[in-house]
Amino acid sequence: MNERIRHDVDVAVIGGGPAGLAAAVALRQAGVERVEVLERELVAGGIPRHSAHTGYGLRDLRRIMTGPAYARRYAALAAVAGVTVRTTTMVTGWSGDGGLEVTAPDGLSVVHASAVLMATGARERPRPARWVPGDRGQGVYTTGQLQQTVYLHGRPVGRRAIVVGAEHVGFSAMMTLRHAGVEVAALTTELPRHQSYLPFHLGARWMLRVPVLTGTRVVAVRGKPRLAEVELERVADGHRWTEACDTVVFTGDWVPDHELARTAGVGMDARTLGPVIDATGATSTPGLFAAGNLCHPVETADVAALSGRHAGRSIARWLAGRAASAAGAGVPIEVDGPLAWTSPQRISSSADLPARGRVILRPSVFARLPRVRVSQGDRVLWQGRLPQFVPSRPALLPASWLARVDPSGAAVRIEALV
Ligand SMILES: Cc1cc2nc3c(=O)[nH]c(=O)nc-3n(C[C@H](O)[C@H](O)[C@H](O)COP(=O)(O)OP(=O)(O)OC[C@H]3O[C@@H](n4cnc5c(N)ncnc54)[C@H](O)[C@@H]3O)c2cc1C
Repeated sequence: MNERIRHDVDVAVIGGGPAGLAAAVALRQAGVERVEVLERELVAGGIPRHSAHTGYGLRDLRRIMTGPAYARRYAALAAVAGVTVRTTTMVTGWSGDGGLEVTAPDGLSVVHASAVLMATGARERPRPARWVPGDRGQGVYTTGQLQQTVYLHGRPVGRRAIVVGAEHVGFSAMMTLRHAGVEVAALTTELPRHQSYLPFHLGARWMLRVPVLTGTRVVAVRGKPRLAEVELERVADGHRWTEACDTVVFTGDWVPDHELARTAGVGMDARTLGPVIDATGATSTPGLFAAGNLCHPVETADVAALSGRHAGRSIARWLAGRAASAAGAGVPIEVDGPLAWTSPQRISSSADLPARGRVILRPSVFARLPRVRVSQGDRVLWQGRLPQFVPSRPALLPASWLARVDPSGAAVRIEALV
């Protein structure tokens, strides 16, 4: 068995996507000396590397750029800040003495760090995980696989496609298919409306002539060795029909890349399927933090980066002994009604605000001006209306009420009254 070489750093960041790189830059800017990002891919940058359309960078870098340009920008910022980015370097587990087991072309090592940030991102559930029956023919993708095939490997896709899902990323898949010369027959969603911005929907419908089939689900995919047709069902009355296509892209329906978090033994959230964090990004294990899509699957890249930046600053404060990292203790935040989850899920200190001063809620229904109430026991901490609820999109709740939380009180409850 190969001996692992020990390697010591101040902070190890697992994952070189927007969240991990932004955190690493913030750590260096806060004066932390040895910051190392461990990234399994050949190049750092995360998902944006293979998402070649524009729409990245607005909230964090104050400009709009394509995904690859955005990824390169973060890699450059990390280099300028003096971050060590080790690519083709995979964290495979945790050593018995608290280190990270790492596999890289130069061999096996154990990285020991005073603090670790997990920023491993999220992935879309592939077809088998969605229980869609039928043949196992070629031509079935998730958006991530599709974009890697088209933009990273330059390989052909197919001729005619159905996109399953109508949140932002479904429209992103549509643009990739068009770029690859594939006719897009339709986007489908089981919900009564698309979940993206209106201009995307109108652009698809009027400019590109791609319909969004609402209230529609995919019940089977058929064709071997190549996909030939997809069977669709109208949710309202069960009416079924088939659509000829050689490509189907399953989009959205995210699950965090949470294997390392699970094996770290930190408290996990049964709703997000990521680690439970407090407003600083601290998990239940002191010195172990998390950020980005691992915690809130899935946000836009700039939000993931801002959450990384926030966690990086928190880690620097923690290393300097100026912040607690004990999300295991404290007050849990619970959600009710048509809310699927919240991030953060725990309040360690009512003085800490989450990234952007907002708690992220994930609604499961559409609603205009929904009423939201935050309470602790009998005390109402905040109530008011949010602009809207759209399933699979964040609803941002101002976190001013955190200062009124009783640290020895009951769980905080966030209810949506729609
Ligand atoms: C198809 C698509 C289109 C999108 N379009 C937009 C858009 O137009 N605008 C926008 O703002 N956002 C968009 N997004 C969302 C955006 O890309 C993500 O929110 C963002 O990349 C999340 O950042 P992250 O750092 O949390 O995760 P990721 O970008 O997923 O990065 C995680 C990184 O961790 C690495 N990693 C994981 N496990 C390990 C391990 N064990 N060891 C080492 N490395 C590991 C991965 O290789 C990866 O590089 C899109 C997403 C998709 C999928």
